[in-house]
Amino acid sequence: MTGLFSTSLLIEISYYVAAFLFIMGLKRMSSPVTAASGIKWAGLGMVVATAITFLYPDMHNYALMTAAIFVGGVLAWWTGKRVAMTDMPQMIALYNGMGGGAAAAISAVELLSGRELGPVVSTLAVLGGLIGSVSFSGSMVAFAKLQGLLRKDVRFKGQNIVNIAILAAAAVLGVMQIAANGSTDSITLMFALALVLGITMTLPIGGADMPVVISLYNALTGLAVAFEGFVLDNAAMIIAGTVVGSAGTLLTQLMAKAMNRSLANVLFSGFGDSSGGSQEVTGAMKAIDANDVGIMMAFAEKVLIVPGYGMAVAQAQHKVWELTQLLQDRGVTVKFAIHPVAGRMPGHMNVLLAEAGVPYDIIYDQDEINPEFDTADVALVIGANDVVNPVARTDSTSPIYGMPILNADKAKNCIVIKRGQGAGFSGIQNALFFLDNTRMLYGDGQAAVSELIQAIKSL
Ligand code: NDP
Repeated sequence: MTGLFSTSLLIEISYYVAAFLFIMGLKRMSSPVTAASGIKWAGLGMVVATAITFLYPDMHNYALMTAAIFVGGVLAWWTGKRVAMTDMPQMIALYNGMGGGAAAAISAVELLSGRELGPVVSTLAVLGGLIGSVSFSGSMVAFAKLQGLLRKDVRFKGQNIVNIAILAAAAVLGVMQIAANGSTDSITLMFALALVLGITMTLPIGGADMPVVISLYNALTGLAVAFEGFVLDNAAMIIAGTVVGSAGTLLTQLMAKAMNRSLANVLFSGFGDSSGGSQEVTGAMKAIDANDVGIMMAFAEKVLIVPGYGMAVAQAQHKVWELTQLLQDRGVTVKFAIHPVAGRMPGHMNVLLAEAGVPYDIIYDQDEINPEFDTADVALVIGANDVVNPVARTDSTSPIYGMPILNADKAKNCIVIKRGQGAGFSGIQNALFFLDNTRMLYGDGQAAVSELIQAIKSL
């Protein structure tokens, strides 16, 4: 009895230690200076929570548990090491989907066990099961789209009504289960419908909105895990799930706001199909060579650098930092202007610049830096497109209309580094490239910045 008491106390304490580590980890992740250690704190929390589960008094199947942890751990380690920064969103979709699927699996086991759960626990089990299933299948579709495995956005008339009908049918089956009228068949059908709903909800959404959708599914997965934590009476799951759920909700709001979209608009309007924009962009793009840009920047007082997705693709961040130092040595003030959705996930650019050693005090958020473009001699846009497209201000028919942008067009000179005429993520033409004060430095981001470095060194 004493042994059992002390084991259960040890389990409870360990779960709170794990929860403390999760929250401290999250807190440390809020600053780029401490973010890497934050990941380790949270990881340690997960190790504690997982290890302590082996001590549960009625636990068995140790071999299966160990095998599952081994397979999952090896796969995560291997994929985590290999994934490119640019593929991170689909990686998150995959991992996130697994979390939702795991929560749904717990729900299924509990609901199908035939155990008397009581109305509260069975309500939570049903809710967690439904949400987890939607999150699982929806995240898998999001992964397939971002990975390029699924290229079509499937849309048909009345699909929102179909989705509502599927949701209603799944909800009725869930209520039947809560009222103790369910059967194995009805529970199975409920899960099947929820899985179908995740697919039909996500299929019509275009690639441009996929990261927002992934963030939403992340929030839903957290919620499902928290619900299942109540079902299993597991404090670590409740706390971790709630933290993930609220963090995911905040991130979803932040991304939607940065793109000037409401969540309903993202989910139900089928945006991201790259069409739109009735305002015609006229004029021609004017090329410039690296030597002329080198002279322009070397004799400037203030240069603002706007990195975008192309900098990530080109892995140009180290060269960009070298260029920055060269300019600073010549007395030029250099600052980085970061749009909240530059790249393919929030913080994408900050992570790359931090990796290259760029100090945080010269990296500015959009709101802080936008007033400074007016006084900048050069805005150097490296592989950014949508986040500097002025049609977002002027063309009410454009898919990016209303999205706050970086005011690169307001600098005295704007230099854009990109490989060719390629469009940005939204697929639309960029009016910035055609302005009188804009010049195009064509080439791969890394190669072009290297040329700039050589040009300045040779002055
Ligand atoms: P964009 O995707 O709009 O544009 C990237 C540009 O980089 C392209 O025009 C491309 O032109 C150029 N490029 C690609 N490869 C290279 C290379 N090797 N060297 C140089 N240039 C290259 O990027 P932004 O960062 O401006 O915008 C991000 C977009 O992603 C926005 O539409 C945003 O809404 C969307 N998005 C971002 C999210 C986030 O959280 N960050 C979430 C959801 C969506 P070319 O092919 O000619 O080289």
